Amino acid sequence: MAQKIINKISEPFILEGNETFIGASIGITLYPDDASDADDLIRNADMAMYRAKDAGRNDYRFFTFTMNEQVFERMQLEKDMRAGLERNEFFLEYQPIVDTVNEQTVHAEALVRWQHPEHGLIPPDRFISLAEESGLINQLGWWVLENACAQAKQWSLNGYPVGISVNLSSRQIKAGLSSEKIVTMLNEVGLEPTLLTLEITEGLLLDDTEETLLWLNTIKQTGVKLSVDDFGTGFSSLSYLKRFPVNIIKIDKGFVQDVTHDHDDATLVKAIIGLAESFNINVVAEGVETEGQLKFLRQHNCDMIQGFYYSRPLAAENLLGYLKQGAAA
Ligand code: C2E
Ligand code: CA
Ligand code: CA
Repeated sequence: MAQKIINKISEPFILEGNETFIGASIGITLYPDDASDADDLIRNADMAMYRAKDAGRNDYRFFTFTMNEQVFERMQLEKDMRAGLERNEFFLEYQPIVDTVNEQTVHAEALVRWQHPEHGLIPPDRFISLAEESGLINQLGWWVLENACAQAKQWSLNGYPVGISVNLSSRQIKAGLSSEKIVTMLNEVGLEPTLLTLEITEGLLLDDTEETLLWLNTIKQTGVKLSVDDFGTGFSSLSYLKRFPVNIIKIDKGFVQDVTHDHDDATLVKAIIGLAESFNINVVAEGVETEGQLKFLRQHNCDMIQGFYYSRPLAAENLLGYLKQGAAA
C-alpha cells in the first residue's frame, strides 16, 4: 500500500503550465505493538519517515525499536560534540596532494578528527552529517578553516609554502559564511589567499541559484581557489563547469579505484580529465592507492594525485617531515 501511494504521488502533474514532480517518504508504526498512545505512535512514524528519507527518499520504512536507540545515540553524540568543541577534542590531519609530474606536494587537505573521551577516535564520516543537521557545522567548520590556515602559514614560515585545502559544507555557505569574513581571517593569519582552496560539493553547484553564483564569484575575486569534491558522484551535469568559477575538480575515489580493471570507469576518468583541460581546470585524482592507478592517471595527464599511494593523512608535524623529505628527494 505504501509503495502504491508513493507511485501515485510520484506521477508528474501540470502546475501553472509546467510539468511538476513531487515525491513522498512514508514512515509506518503499528498499534499496539510499537506504542499505545497517539503521541508515541506519531513520533515513531516520524522517526521511520526520516529513515526513509535518509535512504534516498521516495521510500517507506517500518518503525523498529533500534531506531529509538539510534535517535537517542545521535542526541547524545550531538551533546558530546558541543562539549567537545569547548574542550578542544577536535584536531586536524593533513593529506598531501602531489603534482603528478614532478612529485612535489602542492597542497595538503585538512581532514578533521574527533578524539572522544570515551569512544576514542571518531572519523568525520560519523559526525559531519550530524554536525550539518544540528547546525554545529558552522562552528566546527570555522574552527577547521582558521586552524588549517594558521597551520599553512606555519609551513610557509618553515620554508614550505604549500596550499591548504579545506572542506566546506553547503550549510556553512547558506548560514552566511562570507568572503569578507574569510579574507579578514586570512589577513589576521597572514596567509596569501591564493594558498587557500575551498572544497565544495557538486550539490552546491546543482542548486544553481543566483545566490550561489554570486557567492562563488566573490570568493574568486579574493584569490581563494575553489575545488569541486567527489566529482562524478552527483548528477553529472557537466555544463556547470562552464558556468561556475572553479579552479580544481577532484575525481571521486570510487572511479579512481577501478580505473585499472573497469573499462567504464577508465573511460569516464579520461573524459573528465579531457573536459577539465578544455575548461582550464586542474584535476586531482583522489584515493590513489596503487602504482597501476598512478600510471594510468599520469598517462592521461591528470595534474595531481592524492591517496595512500603517496601518503595517508598525517599530523601537522609529520606533514612538515614529509615536505622536507620530498624536497630532499
Ligand atoms: P573527502 O573530502 O573525500 O576526503 C577524502 C577521504 O578519503 C578522507 O577520509 C581520506 O582519509 C580518504 N582517503 C585518502 N586517500 C585514500 C586512499 O588512497 N584510499 C582510501 N580508501 N581512502 C583515502 P576521512 O578523513 O575519513 O574523511 C571523510 C570525509 O569527511 C571527507 O571526504 C569529507 O567529506 C568529510 N570531512 C573531513 N573533514 C571535514 C571538514 O573539516 N569539514 C567538512 N565539512 N567535511 C569534512
Ligand atoms: Ca575533500
Ligand atoms: Ca573527496
